[in-house]
Amino acid sequence: MAKILFNHVYKRYGKFKEVAVNDFNLQVEDGEFLVFVGPSGCGKSTTLRMLAGLEDISDGEIYIGDALVNDYSPKERDISMVFQNYALYPNLTVYENIAFGLRLRKLPKHEIDLSVKRAARVLEIDNFLDRKPRELSGGQRQRVALGRAIVRKPQAFLYDEPLSNLDARLRVQMRAEIISLHRKMEVTSIYVTHDQVEAMTMGDRVVVMNKGVIQQVDTPELVYNRP
Ligand code: ADP
Ligand code: ADP
Repeated sequence: MAKILFNHVYKRYGKFKEVAVNDFNLQVEDGEFLVFVGPSGCGKSTTLRMLAGLEDISDGEIYIGDALVNDYSPKERDISMVFQNYALYPNLTVYENIAFGLRLRKLPKHEIDLSVKRAARVLEIDNFLDRKPRELSGGQRQRVALGRAIVRKPQAFLYDEPLSNLDARLRVQMRAEIISLHRKMEVTSIYVTHDQVEAMTMGDRVVVMNKGVIQQVDTPELVYNRP
């Protein structure tokens, strides 16, 4: 669990240096569930990717805990990210997909095995460990992607529109599961969505973005003017 700080962060893309993220300043508190919401193209995903180290920042500073991470690789940042398209390895089994990050970190086999099976049990995918992603439903695939994130305890979880590809019923169920995982793991989470209902129902606080800038940061009640 870590505090995260964005200090005057900018992202400019391409040779015309178009500004995708414009002077982003934010402190994310230990253990909070923060939602970035806003229309497509407003810079949510770019901001998340800069935090994860998947995208260079053009200007400014990002801190995770006390560490300035601008020059850290994604692995050094110790963050787990869940994507919309699941980003599973198609040729690996469910087990191997979940174990992948732990194997990269060269943890002992029995420790990996315990962690993978624990995560799979939590997500109720322990009956599918031998299957390949193509043999799973969308909801099951997203659970495997979540399994990969929760198989170890990172400094933070980042979610980039993780439920957009699911049907409405499953989306509601997975929202609740993600919040429940967040509480159980006692981790700091940032969740990107263009869906106001998700922002309203999931966020401890909501960051409203538009055209690369933060418009408002507040509790859902205040952002959406609900009692
Ligand atoms: P959101 O996640 O809110 O939909 P993005 O962060 O994906 O928004 O995009 C913000 C802006 O940056 C958009 O105008 C988008 O076109 C631009 N952008 C995103 N990725 C790239 C890229 N790799 N190259 C150039 N422009 C990009
Ligand atoms: P390696 O190829 O590196 O030896 P394996 O894929 O054989 O790794 O798996 C190592 C351990 O992981 C096995 O001993 C087993 O306990 C566990 N394991 C692998 N796949 C599964 C699975 N589908 N279900 C349960 N346990 C598995």
